[in-house]
Amino acid sequence: MTDRKSELETLKAELEARLNRYHAHQHREGGPLEKDFEEQASQTQNDEVVDSLENEARDELAQVVHALNRIESGEGDECEQCGETIDPRRLQVLPYTTVCVNCAAD
Ligand SMILES: [Zn+2]
Repeated sequence: MTDRKSELETLKAELEARLNRYHAHQHREGGPLEKDFEEQASQTQNDEVVDSLENEARDELAQVVHALNRIESGEGDECEQCGETIDPRRLQVLPYTTVCVNCAAD
């Protein structure tokens, strides 16, 4: 269980670092906005990509934090929906999951 926890903590730190980079990008902390129109157009497209990556990372981070909270409270390997023990092999592949394979399939 400690392995899964440290894995999740590493994942959490990575996601937080990634979100910080996206945030910096969105706020142009990397440099001034390009004046050229063409550049702006491609930058806007880039922003949309970063936006969706940011949302993805935020969802994943929420899931990781949720899984960590469940581990903290001693129910880390219990399915959140049916209460059965989650297959350890499943937890190895998806350390941030909080449902068993049956409930995930629903
Ligand atoms: Zn279940």
